[in-house]
Amino acid sequence: MIRLPFRDGFYEVKPSKIICLGRNYAEHAKELGHEIPKEPVIFLKPPSALIGPEETIILPRKSQRVDHEVELAVIIGKKGKNIPRAKAMDHVLGYTILMDLTARDIQWEAKEKGLPWTVAKGFDTFGPIGPRVVDKRELDVNDLEIGLKVNGEVRQLSRTSKMIFKIDEIIEYVSSIMTLEKGDIIATGTPEGVGPLRHGDFVEAWIEGIGVLKEKVLAERSILC
Ligand code: MG
Repeated sequence: MIRLPFRDGFYEVKPSKIICLGRNYAEHAKELGHEIPKEPVIFLKPPSALIGPEETIILPRKSQRVDHEVELAVIIGKKGKNIPRAKAMDHVLGYTILMDLTARDIQWEAKEKGLPWTVAKGFDTFGPIGPRVVDKRELDVNDLEIGLKVNGEVRQLSRTSKMIFKIDEIIEYVSSIMTLEKGDIIATGTPEGVGPLRHGDFVEAWIEGIGVLKEKVLAERSILC
């Protein structure tokens, strides 16, 4: 169970699904060689990928390259289907940080073969979340610094104002396809600067006004007997 500080107590992270946006920052779309999308690109990450703050990211044996991606995560507070943009914010509880870890080599291969990204995005520990949930009324997320460091070195640094599709548009789009349940999480895409993690690394992802999400990194082969 993952519990994050929220208001005067805790929030239990228990989504029915995690919806992730791909290519939602123009510079990141470019660095991976993609056009800027005309409508949101979405995929699902399994809730079993979640880990809390100050835990351990495990680099799976099946991948030779796992990339970090820092993202602003929206937590849904009220169920809805076909939510119009103007009502979208009524369905938001608050915000946190999610690292959308990606087995990039497996994703490249999937893209080449026209296969889904489920494997590349779905390993256990590929969804660190935290360090707390901020009430939507306490934070305007339209223009916040978002960044990520590995071993103290800045790798990603941008602003949430550079998101191509904004939160209300994303909620409108996603809820036109699938019902958003209370507790669901939407990860809104990563800015440029994605790159590989290695055994022994220490990762810090931050968003202004939310905090810093810290994780260690270990290779699966180093911990299996
Ligand atoms: Mg991502």
